[in-house]
Amino acid sequence: MFTIDAHLDLSMNALEWNRDLRLPVSAINQRETGLTDKPDRAKAVVSLPELRKGQVGLVVATQIARYVAPGNNLPGWHSPEQAWAQTQGQVAWYKAMEEAGEMVQIHDLESLNSHILLWESHIPDEVKPVGYILSLEGADSIVTVEHLERAHAYGLRAVGPAHYGPGRYAQGTDATGLMGPKGHALLKEMERLNIILDATHLCDDSFWEALDHFNGHIWASHNNCRALVNHNRQYSDAQIKELVNRGAVIGLALDAWMMVPNWVRGTSTPRGMHCNLEVMVDHLDHICQIAGNTLHIGVGSDLDGAFGKEQCPYDIETIADLQKIPALLEKRGYQKQDIQNMMHGNWMRFLRNAWGG
Ligand SMILES: [Zn+2]
Repeated sequence: MFTIDAHLDLSMNALEWNRDLRLPVSAINQRETGLTDKPDRAKAVVSLPELRKGQVGLVVATQIARYVAPGNNLPGWHSPEQAWAQTQGQVAWYKAMEEAGEMVQIHDLESLNSHILLWESHIPDEVKPVGYILSLEGADSIVTVEHLERAHAYGLRAVGPAHYGPGRYAQGTDATGLMGPKGHALLKEMERLNIILDATHLCDDSFWEALDHFNGHIWASHNNCRALVNHNRQYSDAQIKELVNRGAVIGLALDAWMMVPNWVRGTSTPRGMHCNLEVMVDHLDHICQIAGNTLHIGVGSDLDGAFGKEQCPYDIETIADLQKIPALLEKRGYQKQDIQNMMHGNWMRFLRNAWGG
């Protein structure tokens, strides 16, 4: 079934992990054997051929670069200008993949509709380009609010104002506090440019403030439920309810620590913690119960978000295994239409609405 994944960090993997994503996952992992500089070395599950194999023909793909002030121990750049430059390198990689015929940027209704037609055609999936919608995870690299218009011009269509920790425009996961005037100015400019607000990673204070001040389209690209795993990175039932009221779609993430409680990074194993795709269905089921329908869920796997096989459901060997989800949903009693909603329909409806369809 045609599948949309609303959160992958493809360019980060290409440039910071030095992965040539045109290769099969097995070749990427083989070349990383023995490397210890990242926890997920030789454990990659995402590459472009695997996306095609799994009929994941459209993804939301990020630019990501954090700014860190003195005293902030998170990894990041020491000036917004350096962070901006990093994101421009990431854009250059996406453009290079377009030139190689591997990817194609989806940035408006016309490009979306023609891409869907291509994936519905009888052309073999192996030769179809993977569509990507450009998104920014954490807005620190937007040097000034005026930079947003430049970013929109090269295709940026969604922004999550914060990532982990304190941000220049909003506070993120594990942080607290409001967005402040700069954050409000960013939201206003996003609204003017019709850039989607990605509510993922906003801390509770900034989340409610952002929703109060933003009148454009809102989604949550990769988020799970606090009721099932109690952490500030996850959404409370009240937040889910508000997102549903605002017409949002929430992408379910496949990062093990967000799926099962009490995960200990570097120690727990997916099998030991019984973390499989059924657990994802528990989270999406929780959202559907709150919503009273299946119109607000999708996939936002994050399967290349600085983790791999060691920290994702054990029934995923590569991202192509997202194709196991429809059968699991069917087993839980979901109807064909619900399953199509989850795998692609909700993101497509959201995008067509946001882009004027
Ligand atoms: Zn994230």
